[in-house]
Amino acid sequence: MAYDIDKDRLLDTLRACVEVESPVGYYPEIHEWLRAELAEMGYEMTVDNNATAYVRVCGKSSEKVVCLGAHLDTIGLVVRGINDDGTLRVRQLGGINYHSIEGETCLVHCRDGRAVAGQVICDHHSTHVFDDARSRERTEDTMAVSLVADVASAGDARALGVTEGAIVGIDPHFERFDNGYVISRHIDDKAAVAVLLDVLRWLAQTGERPAFDTLFAFPIYEEIGRGGSWVPDEVAEYVAVDITLIGPDYAGSNEHSVGVICSDAKGPYDWDLTNTLIACARDACTPGRWNTQVCFHYSTDANAAALHGNDLAAGAFGMACMNSHGRERCHVDALVETERLARAYVMGCGR
Ligand SMILES: [Zn+2]
Repeated sequence: MAYDIDKDRLLDTLRACVEVESPVGYYPEIHEWLRAELAEMGYEMTVDNNATAYVRVCGKSSEKVVCLGAHLDTIGLVVRGINDDGTLRVRQLGGINYHSIEGETCLVHCRDGRAVAGQVICDHHSTHVFDDARSRERTEDTMAVSLVADVASAGDARALGVTEGAIVGIDPHFERFDNGYVISRHIDDKAAVAVLLDVLRWLAQTGERPAFDTLFAFPIYEEIGRGGSWVPDEVAEYVAVDITLIGPDYAGSNEHSVGVICSDAKGPYDWDLTNTLIACARDACTPGRWNTQVCFHYSTDANAAALHGNDLAAGAFGMACMNSHGRERCHVDALVETERLARAYVMGCGR
C-alpha cells in the first residue's frame, strides 16, 4: 500500500476545519462545511437525528460494517444568564479550563442567527484595578463573556440578540510553523477530522475499497460524553479517532506520534479490536512513532457507544496532543502516523 500523504494538504484541511465554528451542539456551520468538502470528493453526507454526520463507503466484503469516528464538536460555553452590566454568565460545554481561555476572544451564536464577538474575562479582570486579579480563582462563577460592543446593561446585550441558551465558540487562533508544529485550540478533534477526510480523499482518488463496508462518523456531542450514544444497528466495530496524550503516564508519546488507546476513564476497549489496531500500527506506522496508552482522565465516543448499550466492539487511537483543552499543540507527523494507522485499519490489516 502506498502512503502518499500530503502534509500540506493535511494541515490546510486542519486549518479550514478548525476555523469553522462548532462548539458542542452547534452544528449548522460545520455541517455545511463538511457537506461541501465531501461533495467535492464525490461523497454524499447523511445526518441522523442526533446530528451525527456520516459517509458510507462500500467495502470488498459486506460481512460486517465497521465505523471510524472523529468528533466535530469543540469545547465551548453556553450563556446561562446576563449580568446587570451586560456581561454574560456562562456554563461550560465540555471540560473547559477557565485559566486557559481567559482573555481569549470568542463568538456568541444567538438563537436568532446573529453572532456577536466577545472576550472571556474574569470579574476581577485587571491587575491595575483589583488587588486579587492574580489570585482570584477562575471558576464558572468568576468568569464571564464580555461582548466586544458598547454594552453597559443586560438590555444592551439582549438588543444584540443574546439570550440564555446562546452558544459560545472559543476562537482557535491557529498558528502553523515552518517545522511542522501547529498551535491552535480545537486540535481536539479537528486534527482527526482532517485525517479521516484525507483517508476518504485517498479512497476516492485511488479507487481503493475498504476491507468491509465502512461508515465514517462525525458526532457533535463528544465533549459532553454522548457523541457515540447511538450508533446504527449494523455497526459491529466503532473506532474513535481522537487525541492521545503527552505527559508522565504516556511513555514514548510526543507530538510526532500516534497512540492506540487500550483503556480510558470508562475502562478497557475491546481486546481483539485493540490488538488489531496495534497490529495496524506495527505494520503501517514509523517505528518509534506509535505507542499504547491508558487515557484515564478522559473517554471517547467509542466507549460511549459501548456504554450506551450499542452491540459493538470499541477501539480508539489518535494523534498525540500537548496542552489539551488549552491552546493545543501537535506536529504534522502525528497526523501522518494517524492516517497511516487509519488506512491500515480500513484496508483490513491485522485481520
Ligand atoms: Zn476529543
